[in-house]
Amino acid sequence: MKRIGVLCSGGDAPGMNPNVRAVVRAGIEAGLEVWGIERGYSGLIKGALAPLGSHDVSGLINRGGTILRTARCAEFMHAEGRAQAAATLRARGIDGLVVCGGDGSFTGAQLIYREHGIPIAGTPGTIDDDLCGTDHTIGFHTAVTTAVEACDKIRDTADDHDRIFVVEVMGRRCGAIALETALAAGAEVVLLPERPGLGPRECAQRLRHAREQGKTSMLVIVAEGAGKGEAVTKVIADALPDAEVRCSVLGYMLRGGVPTVNDRILATVTGVDAVHALLERGAGCCHHIGVIANRVVRTPLSEVVGRPKIIEADLVALVDVTAGLRPWQSG
Ligand code: ADP
Repeated sequence: MKRIGVLCSGGDAPGMNPNVRAVVRAGIEAGLEVWGIERGYSGLIKGALAPLGSHDVSGLINRGGTILRTARCAEFMHAEGRAQAAATLRARGIDGLVVCGGDGSFTGAQLIYREHGIPIAGTPGTIDDDLCGTDHTIGFHTAVTTAVEACDKIRDTADDHDRIFVVEVMGRRCGAIALETALAAGAEVVLLPERPGLGPRECAQRLRHAREQGKTSMLVIVAEGAGKGEAVTKVIADALPDAEVRCSVLGYMLRGGVPTVNDRILATVTGVDAVHALLERGAGCCHHIGVIANRVVRTPLSEVVGRPKIIEADLVALVDVTAGLRPWQSG
């Protein structure tokens, strides 16, 4: 293997830049040429790619976003698009690809491996923390940190005005961001797509009990997959007509910003190992690179794709335990 490519695909995540930096630097150190591909799989189809030198990735360790840009690419969903992408790689003599992305990106990566024999190393670049081949994904820690900082500020206003605040965070299928935000911000209730039994109505009930016992301000975290923040706010406001209920949607704020230490290290560790995995496994490499219990773990992409991580029930229980609503619920 002489030349490899690196691309970012799907939704952006803080830490993609340090990941690209790690791939380029580790590749050069191993004697490889590393090419940067723009805008995910679109760059492969359109031929938008160029070699990257060590200097090209200077200053990326603490930069949000990705200098390569990222994109969703409909053409890659079809066999012709993937054939075009593989032809680009072959024409440039690129014989291995690092894909930084999420489950969708890895589904595509697996297909180009199977159909065209392009070796793949996937690094977990998504804020969602929904991949089973790693304890956490690149960008998740930054996203949660941003959400918790926002909740801390919102909590001040909630306290000052005796209000209930509903804070909606990203997470359509996976409630990991909502869950860890709720734990770290000390929220009273968290609504998760994985826990359909606790919806807006049950949440309003809990809040009513808490208010009857004298609690004046409260924070509810909602993963967008468990209900839109505005809709949840309405249900609570209707159920508690004498309460002031407000909604705050954090949305895209969570996808940007300077990556935290955790994300920089995860991005670096997985980026370097992605290069090593390609070199060591060669034509047989179609692996996801994650970190589990502080160790780098290479998992066949086939065991990662389409198998979303199960949220930890213990952590969900902790939100309830520490919310301090229990004695009131049972009353
Ligand atoms: P993520 O990688 O963050 O999950 P997406 O699901 O949007 O993001 O996927 C990113 C890109 O990966 C898509 O735009 C497409 O190019 C490719 N992709 C996703 N699913 C498939 C699929 N089933 N077949 C081929 N390519 C896919």
